[in-house]
Amino acid sequence: MLGRARARERPVRWWRSVSRPLVSDAVALSVEVARENGLLVPGARVAVQADAPDDAGASSHFTITRTESGLRFVDELGLGNDAVVTVEEQPMKIGGVRTWFWCPMVLCEKRTATLYLHAGFFACRRCHDLIYPSQRKNSNERLLTRLRQLRARLGWSDDVLAPHGDRPANMRVTTFTRLAMRHDSLLLRVMDRIESGR
Ligand SMILES: [Zn+2]
Repeated sequence: MLGRARARERPVRWWRSVSRPLVSDAVALSVEVARENGLLVPGARVAVQADAPDDAGASSHFTITRTESGLRFVDELGLGNDAVVTVEEQPMKIGGVRTWFWCPMVLCEKRTATLYLHAGFFACRRCHDLIYPSQRKNSNERLLTRLRQLRARLGWSDDVLAPHGDRPANMRVTTFTRLAMRHDSLLLRVMDRIESGR
């Protein structure tokens, strides 16, 4: 076992549940961790397990084998999350080599120093949409602030989950429709985050 997801605090303020998963919620397999666990040595074989379901409801058990060109991830739970990760050794001008993983996601294939195990599969931070706590807070608060500003302009209550209010008497119908539509699409984004536990 290389590492474990930290037990997650229960949301105390509702904006916390309107958020993307945290980096600390995922098992991180960095180049350094791989090296410390002997995974960069040809023929090495290591098991990685996350027994408790993560935020996405997934438990994971992988066997990772070092192949000639990279790492082979076998999903021991048989959920079809096998993956092949290319390991690149990049010679540096000042001497020595820098080691990189290539994200195994088909549409990504970017170089990364760390792969994360989340939702039952290994991928880079971008692919998992993992963010850091400060980013999460800022991003969610920005979204809620925009929603409240819009509601204020419409003369609606400050409660973002309250239903639509009436059209203000001095507002043109076209303006009202445009703002109400913008409100609904913002609200959808918020609701989407709540439902997906982001
Ligand atoms: Zn990726």
